[in-house]
Amino acid sequence: MADSVIGIHDDDRETSAGEADDHFHDECGVFGIFGRQDAAAIVTLGLHALQHRGQEAAGIVSYDGSQFHVERHVGLIGDTFTKQSVIDRLQGTRSIGHTRYATTGGAGLRNVQPFFAELSDGGLAIAHNGNITNAMTVQRALQKQGAIFSSTSDTETILHLVATSKQRDTNARFVEAVRQIEGAFSLVALTSKKMIGCRDPLGIRPLVLGDLDGAWILASETCALDIIGARFVRDLKPGEMVVVTTSGIESHFPFEPAKSRFCIFEYVYFARPDSSVEGRNVYDVRKKIGVELARESPVDADIVVPVPDSGTPAAIGFSQEAGLPFELGIIRNHYVGRTFISPGDSIRHMGVKLKHNANRRMIEGKRVVLVDDSIVRGTTSQKIVQMVREAGAKEVHMRIASPPTRASCFYGVDTPEKAKLLASRMSVEEMADFIRVDSLGFLSIDGLYRAVGETGRDAQAPQFCDACFSGEYPTRLLDFEGADNVRSLSLLATGGQ
Ligand code: AMP
Repeated sequence: MADSVIGIHDDDRETSAGEADDHFHDECGVFGIFGRQDAAAIVTLGLHALQHRGQEAAGIVSYDGSQFHVERHVGLIGDTFTKQSVIDRLQGTRSIGHTRYATTGGAGLRNVQPFFAELSDGGLAIAHNGNITNAMTVQRALQKQGAIFSSTSDTETILHLVATSKQRDTNARFVEAVRQIEGAFSLVALTSKKMIGCRDPLGIRPLVLGDLDGAWILASETCALDIIGARFVRDLKPGEMVVVTTSGIESHFPFEPAKSRFCIFEYVYFARPDSSVEGRNVYDVRKKIGVELARESPVDADIVVPVPDSGTPAAIGFSQEAGLPFELGIIRNHYVGRTFISPGDSIRHMGVKLKHNANRRMIEGKRVVLVDDSIVRGTTSQKIVQMVREAGAKEVHMRIASPPTRASCFYGVDTPEKAKLLASRMSVEEMADFIRVDSLGFLSIDGLYRAVGETGRDAQAPQFCDACFSGEYPTRLLDFEGADNVRSLSLLATGGQ
């Protein structure tokens, strides 16, 4: 018998973005817990620790033994899910949640996860981090068979695939669904009897397993376990599906075995520095990145200044390796969201000034090495460099803790289309002119691989997904074939930019 939903509380405010675009955007954090009183309150805390993975909207679904409860709100977890009335509505000992970063367009509440539907054998809620690269193709085929979609999110496709599966048992239906999707997906799903976690065959996005006094937890990052005092058990393996029930946990491997291609950008920028992913502490990796950068691109200077907060660990590594003082020459106002997060160019431009201020006393008359994690459009660097020059720096040298970002991500990290990526249209010298620095250095791709503990990048079989830097995508991109981004792939792959 189908479970009835007693409450779907959708906050009726739409997010700030205007027209929906025709691309799926997901940059998210997921969290789930099975078998614990106040499950939804714990999910709230977990999502709060994962807030850096998405700040526009969030949702939590719980199951109380007879009914599902669904809450979706636009805004930060701390602003929306800490209200007692909201938590009181989310009864039950099992709960999953999702925090979402919506980019320009497609940011309406209808896209906020977890998605929930009543299927023939009961309710199913799904939360997804990643991006399904054949979702539009699958969606069109389903629509031809009469399926109706209520969102522009790729995640809803999974719900439909499970719903239309002819398999009898939930696990088999879920397996049949995930075998039809391609791309990057770390999923957490909830039915009346189970919590399911699943990672795509290449393990592009993270998903970890934790334990809180016997209650199983699934989370995007370990920092979400720390906040509730849970024990880290292990990373889910690429292609692994775990099923948690009242009898315990089982592990399945529904896909053809494949070599892991974890997203290297999680180490560069996306994951929180206090998380450990795939056996490496993110802060350690970022510091090593700084060390590699100092070796590859040394510079005669007086101080090393991070662009806070994203450049800080790499700047520490750089300063230690270079033997130069580390100084907070730029101060960040913590009461503004990530610059990048604001949809719309005009706000984004304004955002940089709202967020950072030069610490004139540290900078005046000095030769400054600025360290940031990446250059995307170049807007942040341009403004920061101007600010540091206006504060009286004698020289400004920019060092970037990753290789040039040349290609868009189709796996769940929000990057603009290729044409808007500064490194896709300019050489390093041209970029240095554009951001008005005395010198500009990026980390090499081999340097990045060394920082994560490899001897270098294996060109024949890369150990990570580094598509944003190399332009080599580890899966086919069915929905995007013919798009500008993809047309230039063959050029990039042969270095023929
Ligand atoms: P831009 O101004 O477009 O060059 O953006 C560069 C800044 O955005 C860097 O300081 C990064 O810390 C940050 N950044 C890079 N990639 C992302 C991303 N996918 N989402 C949010 N912020 C990002």
